[in-house]
Amino acid sequence: MGKVQVWRWWLAAGVLAITAYYLMPEGSTAGTLIYSGIGLASGLAILVAVRRYRLPRPGMWYWIAAGMFANTIGDILYDHYKYVLDKEAYPSFADVFYLASYPCTLIGLLLLVRGRRGKMAELVDAAIVATGLSLVFWVFVLHPMAAATAATLTGVISTAYPAIDVLLLALLARLFTDAAKRTPSTLLIGLATALLLAADIGFSLLTLHAGTDPRPLDALFQLSYLCWAAAALHPSPAAPAEDEEANGVGRGRLALFGACSLLAPVLLFVPQVGMDGLDRSVVAVGSAVLFLLVIARMAGFASLLRRQSATMRRAALQDDLTGLANRRRFDLDLLDALAHGPVHVVFLGLNGFKNVNDELGRPVGDRVLRLMAGRLQRVAPADSLVARLGGDEFAVLFPEAQAGRRPAELVAALREPVLAGGHELLVGVAAGVAESAGDQTDPVEMVRRAEAAMHAAKQTGEPVRRWTAALDERAGERARMGAELQAGLADDQFRVVYQPIVDVPSGRVAAVEALVRWQHPERGLVPPMVFIPVAEQNGLIVELGEWILRTACARLARWRAGLGDEAPGKVSVNVSARQLSRPGFADTVAAALADSGVPAHCLAVEVTETAVFEGGQAVTALHELRALGVRIALDDFGTGHSSLGLLQTVPVDILKVDKSFVDRITEAGRHAVIAEALIQVSAGLGLDAVAEGVETAAQAEALSRRGYRLLQGYHFGRPVADPDFALVRAAAS
Ligand code: C2E
Ligand code: MG
Ligand code: MG
Repeated sequence: MGKVQVWRWWLAAGVLAITAYYLMPEGSTAGTLIYSGIGLASGLAILVAVRRYRLPRPGMWYWIAAGMFANTIGDILYDHYKYVLDKEAYPSFADVFYLASYPCTLIGLLLLVRGRRGKMAELVDAAIVATGLSLVFWVFVLHPMAAATAATLTGVISTAYPAIDVLLLALLARLFTDAAKRTPSTLLIGLATALLLAADIGFSLLTLHAGTDPRPLDALFQLSYLCWAAAALHPSPAAPAEDEEANGVGRGRLALFGACSLLAPVLLFVPQVGMDGLDRSVVAVGSAVLFLLVIARMAGFASLLRRQSATMRRAALQDDLTGLANRRRFDLDLLDALAHGPVHVVFLGLNGFKNVNDELGRPVGDRVLRLMAGRLQRVAPADSLVARLGGDEFAVLFPEAQAGRRPAELVAALREPVLAGGHELLVGVAAGVAESAGDQTDPVEMVRRAEAAMHAAKQTGEPVRRWTAALDERAGERARMGAELQAGLADDQFRVVYQPIVDVPSGRVAAVEALVRWQHPERGLVPPMVFIPVAEQNGLIVELGEWILRTACARLARWRAGLGDEAPGKVSVNVSARQLSRPGFADTVAAALADSGVPAHCLAVEVTETAVFEGGQAVTALHELRALGVRIALDDFGTGHSSLGLLQTVPVDILKVDKSFVDRITEAGRHAVIAEALIQVSAGLGLDAVAEGVETAAQAEALSRRGYRLLQGYHFGRPVADPDFALVRAAAS
């Protein structure tokens, strides 16, 4: 039979046996045999269960079984005295065994309870319940009992039972105030103990008040035995794994404690209880004890709350990912530091971190951030505070004395290559520094200044930049211009001009480069070098760029229709990084081509090395454009990273050699050598090379001699709204 069912069968058989016992006449041998049989069988059942099911804590079960055997021997002797010898059975030699059984049961219960981690809170809970119940016990049982019996052996013995019951009660309370989940087995043990208690108390009260030997109580003793054995036979463990949080107070437990601590005062008002002075003192002492216990419990509860709020505070001030301080903590500490003296805030922003996330996945991105956090903590001095303010932004707060070279050191540490996800990554970083001036006590303003300086550093490519008031003026100016750009776009203030790119041997206008102009009503003609960066920063470049693209395509379509073979072969449009990195750029281009009717191979987009150097969406967009048939030109080549490796990873058709190499092509020197090398690289890779900024015939001649066919510059024509291609051709010949 499976263990699952045994305990049920056991209880059913036991109940049958008890019924049989009551059917036998009182004092019959059969009755005695059944009665003792139940006790013996229960003890044996426990022993068998311990062996068969390898119960945990066998010691506890052995003690409980021993208690049962002692009790049963007591029962046999009791019946022997009463029915065989016809003598007074209570008190008698049987009581020796009865009394001996209690320590065994108590030890068993102790072993069960002791195995649980004695959390202070649980012990206090148990004490509250035990004290409350013991008071009731004293008033109703123990004290009347002691008063009724003289100081004889009988008196001692009859008060001994209820006294021991108080101990049982305490253990029971301990078992059931435990926060651990109670298994059926534990419940059965509790039931067994409660039955034993009820039987004992009933026995004491009935013999005290009615003077009879109560046979009906026998069933309680028997059921108690049965439950003990059933607990051993039940498949659930008697001592379950405990819960972590034993300090919490559920509603049920709260009610229990409330009731127990109210017991003492309530007793004072129960009219039937003729309380004497002793009772009152006992109840008073009990109330005091209860009061103290409840206080202790509440103190424990308060300290738990304190601990929890400390944990929550810590969590609220810490960055989950890196373990560094978070923005809130940084602001708090900064506020504090500002009150104590001058401080420096260094704001660090990573460059191109978004690409790491996009291309290598978030886990790698997270790893990079953790690595960076570790480096900052290593480099930053001990009395500084390193925080992650969010995303890829960090900040370090240090006292004035520490400033000086520190920001540069921080930047250098972050710029070291990072090994993550099997890649060696170079993560760029820029730092902005803000110093607190005498009046400067606003932490938010300090961080804002450091951040503004960081953005300025990013823009110019410097590693570190200090905040100055001029920076804000420039930022204010930029903000104003940004708003005006928006208005200008709506107000049609932009124009596109075209500069020819000439194929020198043939004199044909191979292409025109579209260049934007801003005719501002008050500022006059604003050069693109001034407003393009602003439009890039505020995002307007996306809208403006699309307008330029459409205008240029439409213009080429008109030339093709009007000039036929004389029309420029293609139009070259500048595209900025921000446009490229927006998903869907290729779709925008495809739509512009479709709407104008210009074939894709007649359009080139000019991108700078820096725009595509960091890879990511920008390079993806270039591949998509390439797939459309659009040509790709690398603008200002030689001024950015000048990485020849880029020519392999990025799809490129045209190399636009920067004006700086052209300027000095006529002098024998480094620039001429580079210009010469670049034409060879282009030829080797099958790229078209365009020399930009050709201003003189001598330069044109020198370039042609070195193999450059495609030239662009003032020598052939300035960028104008409506170039005269015949004139251009004349200049080329
Ligand atoms: P870029 O793409 O390298 O354009 C060439 C610049 O060199 C143009 O300046 C052009 O006028 C100038 N240039 C051409 N030949 C000569 C010459 O012989 N001598 C001298 N000194 N300069 C010459 P521009 O039009 O002021 O444009 C400056 C930059 O602004 C462009 O450099 C480009 O990066 C950006 N830009 C211009 N138009 C646009 C546009 O429509 N979209 C975007 N995203 N950027 C544009
Ligand atoms: Mg260009
Ligand atoms: Mg250029």
